[in-house]
Amino acid sequence: MGSPAPRPVQPWEIESAINPHTAAIYWPVMEEAEGKTVGLAETVAVAHRHAVPVIVDASAALPPTGNLRAFIAAGADLVAYSGGKALRGPQASGLLTGRRDLIQSVALQHQDMDVHPVTWSLRAQWLDTGILPGPPLQGIGRSLKVGKEEIVGLLTALRPFLARDEVAEHADWLAQSRAITEALFNVPGLQCDIVENAQGIPLTRVKWDEARLRLHGAELVNALAEGDPSIGVGGDGAGGMITLNPFSLAPGQAQLVAQRLRELLTSASA
Ligand SMILES: *Cc1c(COP(=O)(O)O)cnc(C)c1O
Repeated sequence: MGSPAPRPVQPWEIESAINPHTAAIYWPVMEEAEGKTVGLAETVAVAHRHAVPVIVDASAALPPTGNLRAFIAAGADLVAYSGGKALRGPQASGLLTGRRDLIQSVALQHQDMDVHPVTWSLRAQWLDTGILPGPPLQGIGRSLKVGKEEIVGLLTALRPFLARDEVAEHADWLAQSRAITEALFNVPGLQCDIVENAQGIPLTRVKWDEARLRLHGAELVNALAEGDPSIGVGGDGAGGMITLNPFSLAPGQAQLVAQRLRELLTSASA
């Protein structure tokens, strides 16, 4: 935190941090980290030289749907996605994809291990194979176990997510963002443009002259959040800039957002 790093993290720095206790390398998908840290392919190359798996935190990396396979294709061993963000499934669910043996080991971590070795239902897989000498005690995942409601809920949410028409969806987002931009084009001291984020979602970027419109960034963000309906934006308004993500807007709501923004941005300076 604080001052920016003087240079990006180098692959050798990851390599030199690996020791016999290293279980895995964590690689978060973060737009802000791009160019500041080691890319996934290079991280995988370093990790695999030492037989260490790479876990990708792709919680917020959907859409696009292609990201359900892209990180595995790039060499990652395990990839985790939030079930409660773009998948719109249960908030306490998530999706883990990747190497079968690692996923089995995750599953083992959340069993109730109050079992007898000779009758343990997983004995063929873990004991007869010689992988484990006996059933382990409750794993670290037991307190985080996934309920059957979450499992069924996530699978149910996955179907409509995969059935989306990505081209039509993008056109809808763009129309929402354009509607906001167009509704605000003639507010003096205000500029809007459309920028795509890493998910390929066209965001409206709103910049305004804080002094001229007599409205600080945080004041605008708070007023939007505290209004009815509450409007949540990207950023804290620093420097008179916010972004608006159309992802969860229903038809017609772009106009509502634009109207509220216009009200707030013109009333303080009037
Ligand atoms: C949201 C997020 C998480 C947490 O995911 P939940 O499904 O909310 O638990 C973890 N990592 C990153 C990078 C995220 O964006």
